[in-house]
Amino acid sequence: MAKQTAPDSNSQGGEAMRQYSPAQELINNTAYIVMILLGSVILIAGYGGSAGGWISAIAYLAYGIAGSVWIMVFVCPYCRYFKTRSCPCGYGHISPLFRAKGTVECFNEKFKKHIPVIIPLWFIPIVAGVVPLIRNFTLPLLVLLIIFAINAFVILPLVSTKHGCKECPQKDTCPWMKYTIKQAG
Ligand code: SF4
Repeated sequence: MAKQTAPDSNSQGGEAMRQYSPAQELINNTAYIVMILLGSVILIAGYGGSAGGWISAIAYLAYGIAGSVWIMVFVCPYCRYFKTRSCPCGYGHISPLFRAKGTVECFNEKFKKHIPVIIPLWFIPIVAGVVPLIRNFTLPLLVLLIIFAINAFVILPLVSTKHGCKECPQKDTCPWMKYTIKQAG
């Protein structure tokens, strides 16, 4: 994918910021989408394909979608990427459909307050998969759990911190960058 830069209202201090095409935004969302889909499959497999498993999977899927909307409603309005094509995952130009622009200085506070809402998405499939695995070991479920963990805890943070967030003007104050990148070394 070609990198596009164009000066517009999204420039910071006269410096043009990167613009993302819809295809690039989709690529940047892939690890999150894969996490939600894999998590749903783990819930179905963990419950042995029962109705309870399917209901849990649908609820988890709905939670994954609602989590994205939550971020667009409660975090993105305070981001410098709000209403621009410079948000790596595209939330920044969907967010204005829900909310008006907020104060950029509140970004850090809003991020810390609302990110915990989506954190359980990373752990629900692990718990829902490990418990039945202990009770009744199956290789496919183990493989699913390993792939889920690699995607959710390695690939997804790496894509965020080494790619999109690396170019963010808020990276010095962003809690995600502060805690994730420094821990990653
Ligand atoms: S960079 Fe993050 S906070 Fe900013 S608009 Fe995009 S998703 Fe929202």
